[in-house]
Amino acid sequence: MNPIKYMLPESDIPTHWYNIRADLPEPMAPPLHPGTKQPAIAEDMTAIFPMSLVEQEMTTEKWIEIPDEVRQYYAQWRPSPLYRARKLEKVLDTPAKIYYKYEGTSPVGSHKLNTAIAQAYYNREAGITRLSTETGAGQWGTALSLAGQAMGIDVHVYMVKVSFNQKPYRRAMIETYGGHVMASPSDTTEAGRQILAANPDSTGSLGIAISEAVEIARSRTDTNYALGSVLNHVMLHQTVIGQESLKQMEMAGDYPDVVIGCSGGGSNFAGLAFSFIGHNLTQGKKTRIVAVEPASCPSLTKGVMAYDFGDVAGLTPMMKMHTLGHDFMPAAIHAGGLRYHGMSPLVSHLYELGQIEAIAYGQNPCFAAGVQFAQAEGIVPAPESNHAVRSAIDEALRCKAEGRSETILFNLSGHGHLDMQAYIDYHEGGLPDHEFNVDDMALDSLPQV
Ligand SMILES: *Cc1c(COP(=O)(O)O)cnc(C)c1O
Repeated sequence: MNPIKYMLPESDIPTHWYNIRADLPEPMAPPLHPGTKQPAIAEDMTAIFPMSLVEQEMTTEKWIEIPDEVRQYYAQWRPSPLYRARKLEKVLDTPAKIYYKYEGTSPVGSHKLNTAIAQAYYNREAGITRLSTETGAGQWGTALSLAGQAMGIDVHVYMVKVSFNQKPYRRAMIETYGGHVMASPSDTTEAGRQILAANPDSTGSLGIAISEAVEIARSRTDTNYALGSVLNHVMLHQTVIGQESLKQMEMAGDYPDVVIGCSGGGSNFAGLAFSFIGHNLTQGKKTRIVAVEPASCPSLTKGVMAYDFGDVAGLTPMMKMHTLGHDFMPAAIHAGGLRYHGMSPLVSHLYELGQIEAIAYGQNPCFAAGVQFAQAEGIVPAPESNHAVRSAIDEALRCKAEGRSETILFNLSGHGHLDMQAYIDYHEGGLPDHEFNVDDMALDSLPQV
């Protein structure tokens, strides 16, 4: 029983990104300037982003044309395949149909290159020669380093120290693509030096690494900053995933009842889901949309909707989003790409509007699902993607219990080939499942607005 594969020709690579802001029933709250606390204007952001990306961040225009050069680059792995997981359906003995969109075929093994290549392109067009960024588990640093190499831009990556030490293969990959890696907190920035002075043994966090990367971008005119998730323009670039999926589901003669994605900053989830939410909003469809997060970093299911900073030092604009507080330190789970205190303001807004559901899982049930998926379908998912796999399997089991034949579609955001230590730890007797405690939230770090 092989999976059925739905492939599109190169001519079906989308020509435009889809901006869901054009279809929102209520507009989202604006970002605020960290000093004046007034709505941020374009000029507040051009110190670290090119104007073209700032415009994409703010626009409510529905379709944004994808530059030819970016589309040609996408053609190396896009359109990506969409599969029907027939063996998994059989193993689960479910009447449900399970489809998945696979983003692990990109050279870096995840969806992150979809936005990395676009961001590097716009920065090069603006005359920028260096980009600084942060990376948690290393996937984003890897993707931006390759994109920088493609566009002739030098990439400087602040890598959370605990990952820097634990994930030498990711570091090697960034360096193979020509990127420069620093363990964060580092002594190369004021933000890093302050953290180290207070706590010389700090193992770092995404929020600290973002502060370092933003500081560098602000202090050098040749350098801009790039973020791999959370921001509106990142969600926008990822919508190629959902647009292709709409066509592939049509090829399959099906339409999903449930669409699922794992959610760290929200970008792979948004990439798949926004096209389907768009159809819910404008074409009367009633697809359920489910974001899946780790129980130890549950920004949607446990966090509050409030203005917060994207980083620890408070250098970024304040964004209204679901957050656990920018000082929140998540437990060291293996799905490093999901360990962020906040959530995309756009995804948070849709959650508040009741357009999406959210669910949180501990890491053991997620790895159990990943192993079951790998044995049935052959692909070993990234630890982050395992969260989506868990939810898809649970939906299929619910269908079985209810005797319903629903159609389930989830995003397999990347493969886990560089995360096998996590699988080793899981096979050797399980992983710690950290109990989330509301007292762990850092809500007193929320800025007063
Ligand atoms: C980074 C990453 C994620 C989480 O980031 P989002 O912006 O929420 O998509 C999920 N899956 C993989 C494979 C990743 O590399």
